[in-house]
Amino acid sequence: MHDSYNRTNSPKAQMGEYKGTAWALFKNTVEDATEDVIAFGFFRDAIVKAVVDQVSECLPIDAQESIQILFANRKYSLIKDILTHLATAEDFQKYKAFISDPYTYAKKWILKLLKRELFEEKAGIRSGCLYNQLAHSRVTKIFSHISKCISDATKDCQIRSLSCMSKWIDLFIFHNCKSSDLPLSNDALVHVRDRKISNLDTFVVILNEQLSVMENMVLNIFSNVKSDNVQWKKNPISEIMESLWGCTANCMFCHEPCMNSDKNHLEDKFPHKCIAQKV
Ligand SMILES: [Zn+2]
Ligand SMILES: [Zn+2]
Repeated sequence: MHDSYNRTNSPKAQMGEYKGTAWALFKNTVEDATEDVIAFGFFRDAIVKAVVDQVSECLPIDAQESIQILFANRKYSLIKDILTHLATAEDFQKYKAFISDPYTYAKKWILKLLKRELFEEKAGIRSGCLYNQLAHSRVTKIFSHISKCISDATKDCQIRSLSCMSKWIDLFIFHNCKSSDLPLSNDALVHVRDRKISNLDTFVVILNEQLSVMENMVLNIFSNVKSDNVQWKKNPISEIMESLWGCTANCMFCHEPCMNSDKNHLEDKFPHKCIAQKV
């Protein structure tokens, strides 16, 4: 009897039992917290990828606009700039290149201009080159939209006493879809949706704390882009040329480029236009 009493009530036995409970408690807490951290990790990765994709999609358009705005009269302004340069360049090879193939010459001209405008740091401007500024403003706008969707989804869950992850994700996607800031594919957040998190509040707290870290992750990706490593999702040069140069025909008499910036002017019954020949 003494032995059995000792087995259950000795400090050693009690300690063992206590340890068992504490360990179980500790283990559960860690597992739950881990589950929340895993859910956050999936959410972060999915969102960072979606933002990078969306910004990469928008940057060629921003780049295109920032070049086109420099040529108020489209093709006329572009040719005038090139001719002004050629007039002072005193470079026969350049004259020859422009006269024999004005379109190709202009395309190379635009490529150089794009590099200069987007990637050269301008004196007096501290916030990096234009490319970085364009990326920065896109990223900031998208993250302020995400932040609003997080708070709207969380408020909706509180009002309706919902505490599961799948409902929160559904509401987040619902609010996100109200604007076109961040297109999300249907399965982008499917891994997060399935997580059995311990506490929605904890998840949202982690999320709000880490949102600026996520924003910086995205900003870093774009701040490392330079003119020699830029990879356009869609190269803006052909779009710029299409909009500025349009018709690629040259005058059959004097070889001057047709002055129409509209590529389809013949279909619209407007003939090629040459300033020298007045046709
Ligand atoms: Zn002509
Ligand atoms: Zn034409």
